[in-house]
Amino acid sequence: MKKKFNLKEKIQQFRAWRERPREVAPMSQEEHECLNCHDHYTGRFCPRCGQAATTSRFSMKVAAENFAEAYGMGERGMFRTILELILRPGYLILDYLRGMRVSYYAPFKMFFLLFAISTLVTHGLNIKGQALYDDSETSVQNLEKEIDEKSGSTEEQDVLEIEGETFKFSDRTKAIVYKIFDRMERFEKRFPSINTLILLMIVSGFLYLFFRHCPKIPDLRYPEFFMALLYIANMYTVYSIVFDFFCLSKLSSYSIFLTLIPLKQMSGYSWLRTTMKTVAASLIMFGLLVLLIILGILVIFLIAKRGA
Ligand SMILES: [Zn+2]
Repeated sequence: MKKKFNLKEKIQQFRAWRERPREVAPMSQEEHECLNCHDHYTGRFCPRCGQAATTSRFSMKVAAENFAEAYGMGERGMFRTILELILRPGYLILDYLRGMRVSYYAPFKMFFLLFAISTLVTHGLNIKGQALYDDSETSVQNLEKEIDEKSGSTEEQDVLEIEGETFKFSDRTKAIVYKIFDRMERFEKRFPSINTLILLMIVSGFLYLFFRHCPKIPDLRYPEFFMALLYIANMYTVYSIVFDFFCLSKLSSYSIFLTLIPLKQMSGYSWLRTTMKTVAASLIMFGLLVLLIILGILVIFLIAKRGA
């Protein structure tokens, strides 16, 4: 008789599997002779030179593996890591932070590889075969146009009002602002991955304030949290690559909310607390950003005024 499919039981099994640390298969007792230094040993690698016990004559498969390795895809379960980033991201991070390093694809390497794939997909390697985000005209040029149009039509819109006092923007002020934005944009275009890493450092800094005493890791260190966020960014990139490939740009942007899943799983906070902490960190970050921009504009304005 066929056993009845029990959904509740399956979900429970999945949950238990998700939370259990990854298990490494027991080692075989088979004896090997190293083809490099002819030592006899048991295990997967030669204890003297480190050559793999599976080393064999070249076949198409071995040659292909060699090729893949040159591009950083040959080892340490790239696909397993991606699969676990989708099924149990927070628990994978806990495994990794607690010392299971070799079982998983290294987060930095994964970041650069996924970044490259993502760039290919958004620049045309998708079902429509076209670039998803139009970058023929830079946003600085747009900004420049917008401000010029405004100042062309009415003079008054070029004015900044702070506590009853009005400051008029001179062309010199505008020129400085353009220059700064232009430099920032050029840096972003030339080193997009470094730009993202810097952004990740800032975001993780604010989030760290709220997660450093979490139940699962009460003495969480900032570098550990940064590595965790790198994996979370990789998870997000995996989702956005898939959505971008099918040209579902909306879903691609919304998948940023999926980052709450690993944050909850790795911290051990409830859904509500995880969400509240993330929202609080974001509010503080954006508040400070707005404050910095206002301060920056004021400083530029004063410098320009003095120079004029
Ligand atoms: Zn050897």
